[in-house]
Parts: sequence; structure tokens; C-alpha cells
Amino acid sequence: MHYKQELTAVGSAALDTIETPHGKVEDVLGGSVFYIGAAAGLFAPTNIVAVVGDDFPFDEIEFLRERNVNFDGLETAMGDTFRWSGRYHKNMNIRDTLSTELGVFAGFEPKLPFGAAEAKYLLLANIHPELQLDVLEQMEEPRLVAFDTMNLWIETAREQVLELIKKVDLVIINDEEITLLTGEISPFAGASKIIKMGPRYVVVKKGEHGSVLISRDDPPFLCPAFPLAEAKDPTGAGDTFAGAMMGYLAATDDLGDFNMRRSIIYGTITASFTVEDFSIERLKQITSDDIEERVRVFRTMVEF
Ligand code: AMP
Repeated sequence: MHYKQELTAVGSAALDTIETPHGKVEDVLGGSVFYIGAAAGLFAPTNIVAVVGDDFPFDEIEFLRERNVNFDGLETAMGDTFRWSGRYHKNMNIRDTLSTELGVFAGFEPKLPFGAAEAKYLLLANIHPELQLDVLEQMEEPRLVAFDTMNLWIETAREQVLELIKKVDLVIINDEEITLLTGEISPFAGASKIIKMGPRYVVVKKGEHGSVLISRDDPPFLCPAFPLAEAKDPTGAGDTFAGAMMGYLAATDDLGDFNMRRSIIYGTITASFTVEDFSIERLKQITSDDIEERVRVFRTMVEF
């Protein structure tokens, strides 16, 4: 069997209502899989696996087809699309979830379509860990499995989160979640606890303070965030980061230390576009050239 240099991603498909100090939008495209598709598709063919209701505005995701994104794993079920609503504080690192309505997610049983199971790269994006496990079991022989989660699942489905961590290669987690999961304040101490459970890599995201890659076999890598004059909406930055990072790895198929580092840079730069506007508005407009140009500027800022 010849496994494909593609990414398969399972996650949420949502309609979001978001309020930030820069404005408010209602029922806009959200959920991890669309940020991931729009980001990863700029690098490698991407299969998304999720569920939407019969109220979903399919025309809004048409652009993803031209971006190498395959929707065969996007199931349409009778009922309402998952809806999430959140409000950001003046300090946009802090947000409150105002409501979560599961809709068709409540009965979702992910089925990998023909082709998606043979992808070499798998991203288990933020959804209930039971669904993530289900997808992992359907994969043929992925080369790299990445796992993302959120505080909700660490608090309510801790055992399943821990079971998954033992089975994956890369854990992508933010600073608050790693403390919740491991009890450690320091990302280095928390990551070394996770690495002892099985994964080879941990990426700790620290919002506007950048991210850290901690590996079992290689020295740590520190990556600052790209400085932006004005961020409008941080929603989906983490999903964009994970999508671009995994898309870059799928495209290059190289897990060497320096390529892992480069994948973090591409994740960082792609996510910096997402926060410039609400939903996937900015991500929709950009091309690979925009990313390369910003990578070039970024390089000048970290060189010494
Ligand atoms: P992020 O800003 O990277 O945490 O991702 C934001 C996206 O996560 C939003 O578009 C939401 O629709 C989605 N989301 C919020 N809560 C959940 C949840 N409980 N399960 C899955 N996805 C969620």
C-alpha cells in the first residue's frame, strides 16, 4: 500500500456568533475543520471529516474545493448545525463561551470516506475525544498523528483524553490547557510529563506570546507570534496554526528537527492572517505567496 501525502482532519463544523472589542458577527462560518481546511489546503490535499445540519450554507465553503480540500467526509444530517457563541474581553486572550448548541453533533458517528483513511497525516482537532478515537481507529497507517483538545474535554472526559495522548505522536495544546492537564505551570515541565505518556512532540501555544516545540529527541524550539498592529478576532487561530503546521508537514513529508521547526513557523504565520478579520474572511483571501512574504518578514525579526 502506498500511503498518500495528504492530511485528514476531523473536528467541528459550526456557525459562530462572536463579539470582540472590534465588532460582532452572527452565524458565521466556524468550527475547527474550516479553519484547518482553509489553512492546510494552501499546502497539501486535505480531507475534512465533520457533520453539518440541513441549515448549513454550503456556498460559503465552495472556495475550499479550489484549495485542495475534499468534503466527502463532511456529512449532512437532518437538524441544526452545531452553534457556538463567545465574547472576548478587552484583553482578547480571555474569552467567555456564551452558548454551545450541539445540534447534529449529538448523534455524529464519523465515517472516513474512501481515500481519507490512507492519508499519511492525521489531525484530531478539537471535538469530543470519543469521536477522535473513533477516527484514529479507522485510519490505515498514518505517519504522524496530531491531537488538539480544549479545557471542556480535559475537565469532562479526562480518561479518554489521556487514552488518546498515549496513542498520538504530537500534542498541540495551549498554556491553560497544559496546566489543567498536567498540573504544571511551566510549559516545559508540562510537556515533559506528556512526553513520558508516549508522544514524541508537544507544541504549547501561548497566544500572542508565541509557541514552543518540545521534542523527545531534539532541543526545544521557541517561536514568537507575528506582531500585528490590530487583531480583530482570535477565534480559530489555534485551529489555523494546527492546520497549516500539519499541511506543511504533509506536503514536505519530512519529520527532521529543522522541518518540524519550519512547520511551526508556517503555523504561526498562517494563524496571524486568521486573527486579522472575523471568521475565515482573511484566510479565504490569502495565497501561498502572501504566506511566503510574511515568512520572509518574520525571518528578519528573529535573525541575530
Ligand atoms: P479556537 O479559537 O481555535 O479555540 O477555535 C474556535 C472554534 O472552535 C470556533 O469556531 C467554535 O465553533 C469551535 N468550538 C467551540 N466550542 C467547541 C466545542 N465544545 N467543541 C468543538 N468545537 C468547538
